[in-house]
Amino acid sequence: MAASLWLRGAASGLRYWSRRQRPAAASLAAVCSRSVASKTPVGFIGLGNMGNPMAKNLMKHGYPLVIYDVFPDACKEFREAGEQVVSSPADVAEKADRIITMLPTSMNAIEAYSGANGILKKVKKGSLLIDSSTIDPSVSKELAKEVEKMGAVFMDAPVSGGVGAARSGNLTFMVGGVEEEFAAAKELLGCMGSNVVYCGAVGTGQAAKICNNMLLAISMIGTAEAMNLGIRLGLDPKLLAKILNMSSGRCWSSDTYNPVPGVMDGVPSANNYQGGFGTTLMAKDLGLAQDSATNTKSPILLGSQAHQIYRMMCAKGYSKKDFSSVFQFLREEETF
Ligand code: NAD
Repeated sequence: MAASLWLRGAASGLRYWSRRQRPAAASLAAVCSRSVASKTPVGFIGLGNMGNPMAKNLMKHGYPLVIYDVFPDACKEFREAGEQVVSSPADVAEKADRIITMLPTSMNAIEAYSGANGILKKVKKGSLLIDSSTIDPSVSKELAKEVEKMGAVFMDAPVSGGVGAARSGNLTFMVGGVEEEFAAAKELLGCMGSNVVYCGAVGTGQAAKICNNMLLAISMIGTAEAMNLGIRLGLDPKLLAKILNMSSGRCWSSDTYNPVPGVMDGVPSANNYQGGFGTTLMAKDLGLAQDSATNTKSPILLGSQAHQIYRMMCAKGYSKKDFSSVFQFLREEETF
């Protein structure tokens, strides 16, 4: 990946702290003061479907925020609530020594950290930078090296749970980075999630997330296929869902996020597949799984198939819909 190579060049000769190694004394002092000052402003970059409710949960826990999003309208309600809105990631880094990023893709994360007005331009020594976006684990590692060079700490902490869990503060965070910093990260992440799990060195949070989403895509397609087949065989969709959910086919896609309109309330399928987790983002995550599988020589036969299905959906007009719209996609596909 070009961006990754660019970062790699910039970061050459850097060393990442092993779990046994400690940060330099100056950086440790800054880390300690940051951890003690627990209600100092927290930076938040990327106030989209997920970032918006996550940031609101930090506010509920009494953290003042410093906000930035490339899309100014995303910041509007935070400005109205009295939070500080600034005009670049660098400005966030100037005003906050703990920053959370929640961005769509690897490229967006690289831009927010290493761009012309990126976090790294003004990051303070000892700052804690937590990236909750789902991105390529190799990009997380490169960003961690760049951040370390500035005397700060980077952790990857992607989430599982979707917009509902982001609103209710019940996300699962999968955290990679220096173990000694986990407690400091957990203090913030615990305001937004009910499970905060330490996975290992930087990049391992992303690895866990990618595996989870590959399985989710496969199970969602499987649920949509089974529901579509059952309906065409004359079954009532609600009854079929009820039977699946008391049988061995039960899964999150069937019992919590059913893709068939009318089966459940409060899910994207009940609202013309608006909101939720976009098909484009699922296609992106499956692309990350595909790259990781190639790099590690791992067979992902169903994962690759799921990737092709979600890519095809994006090309056929489903890109803005929730990923459960694979049911609608299948409904429209007549096979011989
Ligand atoms: P989103 O597109 O709704 O929001 C992303 C926000 O980031 C937007 O407001 C956008 O304007 C902003 N942005 C983009 N580039 C930026 C930059 N360089 N600087 C500042 N702001 C920038 O995406 P989302 O659904 O909130 O997802 C965010 C991440 O979380 C993705 O990586 C996604 O894969 C992951 N995720 C999403 C869900 C979900 O259900 N939506 C669930 C789990 C994980």
